[in-house]
Amino acid sequence: MRIALDFDGTYTEHPALWDAFIALAKAHGHTVNVVTLRHPVHDRIGVDRRLEQLGAGIVYCDGRPKHEVAKERGLSYTIWIEDDPRCVHEGSRINEEQLAAWRKNDVHKAPDRREGEKKSPPLHRRS
Ligand SMILES: [Mg+2]
Repeated sequence: MRIALDFDGTYTEHPALWDAFIALAKAHGHTVNVVTLRHPVHDRIGVDRRLEQLGAGIVYCDGRPKHEVAKERGLSYTIWIEDDPRCVHEGSRINEEQLAAWRKNDVHKAPDRREGEKKSPPLHRRS
């Protein structure tokens, strides 16, 4: 099976459970990707390295219908695990204002992108 696992409201509800699920699914030869409506830079998730270590790739859809983004990338899934199945074909239904409020309160964001925190310094400086 090729399994698409939602992040917000699904993985985030019980990460240890889903980590075990991913490991078991992989051990049985299945593919699991975390497919999220998040933006790949502004909303990058904080557990991306752990998920990648478990062998679960992450597909960021930036609010677009997940099915559409997956298709563009040559990905297809036989199982979608979702707290809001409409996201698969409809994408995000929140407006810019709601998105800004959501981002401000996002506790699952990668630490270097949290509101009010310094961004990582550039790796190379131009002289
Ligand atoms: Mg969700």
